[in-house]
Amino acid sequence: MSVIYDRVALIGLGLIASSMHWAIKRGGLAGEVTGYARTEATRQTARDIGLCDRVFDTMAEAVAGADLVVLCVPVGVMGEVAAEIAPHLKPGATVSDVGSVKAEVIETVGPHLPEGVHFIPAHPIAGTEHSGPRSGFAELFDNRWCLLVPAEGSDPEAVDRITRLWRAMGSNVDHMDAEHHDLVLAVTSHAPHLIAYTMVGVADDLRRVTDSEVIKYSAAGFRDFTRIAASDPTMWRDVFLSNKNATLEILGRFTEELFALQRAIRTGDGEHLHAYFTRTRAIRRSIIEAGQDTDAPDFGRGARKG
Ligand code: NAP
Repeated sequence: MSVIYDRVALIGLGLIASSMHWAIKRGGLAGEVTGYARTEATRQTARDIGLCDRVFDTMAEAVAGADLVVLCVPVGVMGEVAAEIAPHLKPGATVSDVGSVKAEVIETVGPHLPEGVHFIPAHPIAGTEHSGPRSGFAELFDNRWCLLVPAEGSDPEAVDRITRLWRAMGSNVDHMDAEHHDLVLAVTSHAPHLIAYTMVGVADDLRRVTDSEVIKYSAAGFRDFTRIAASDPTMWRDVFLSNKNATLEILGRFTEELFALQRAIRTGDGEHLHAYFTRTRAIRRSIIEAGQDTDAPDFGRGARKG
């Protein structure tokens, strides 16, 4: 594969940025990758493991001369990071991000960027429950979707270029508008995370009653929840605060369905339960058929989440 950008700057060096770095290196997709992280500890780890060709102590130095700058920080700080890099961006550069929420990121980042800089927000639907500079790997994006959310009137050449980068990093690429993205992700990712956090919290309360039985006899269902509920607390706090409306809408629907199932259990309505579980099983089958998971039983041990 050939170089798509001469210089890519990654701001924030956690799971997503480090995976982008290794995927870019795997494909030889950039002449140089520069990086910045907030803490000296993360910058030092990055230098120790060869994450980025050059790691800088300031955002200004990291973005200077970059053709593509990707914000890989929690959603809640995207705006302040954009304000800090704005004066140092190369004219004609593309700024993108990988945030899990799009409408609020566009609202907070967009106004800071100078004329002549292209802003093309993105969200790779790929992740694990691990975070930090050591957690990334080149294959993270392989066969996963990356959703681009270009504003109307975005420069088609800039959009085409970043599309080529994500494809070359292994992703399938689709375009979506920000509100639709946030609703879809509330269903597929944000509400499920909140439900997992809640279930593990409930079990933790129960554990105080039953000692260690919840952990000792932890079955596949609960273990899957604990994996999801081990995700980074800062990232997920920001996701819920930023995607408030869509998440509340989906949780409202979830609560209604839960009450209906609760009622079916109370009244002994086995037909309702069986029909419901038959419908949900078909959804699992279509995810496997779409190549987004395997049907190998892994009891939650090897699975990755998006
Ligand atoms: P991560 O592993 O926790 O890394 C976050 C990085 O952001 C760290 O390098 C951290 O620096 C830096 N950072 C945190 N607060 C900052 C601040 N105030 N100013 C500057 N830098 C700051 O996170 P991640 O999982 O890669 O997530 C990054 C973005 O990708 C988030 O917006 C998230 O919504 C999105 N995303 C995540 C996933 C997933 O499954 N994890 C999937 C798709 C998209 P220090 O280490 O120095 O503190």
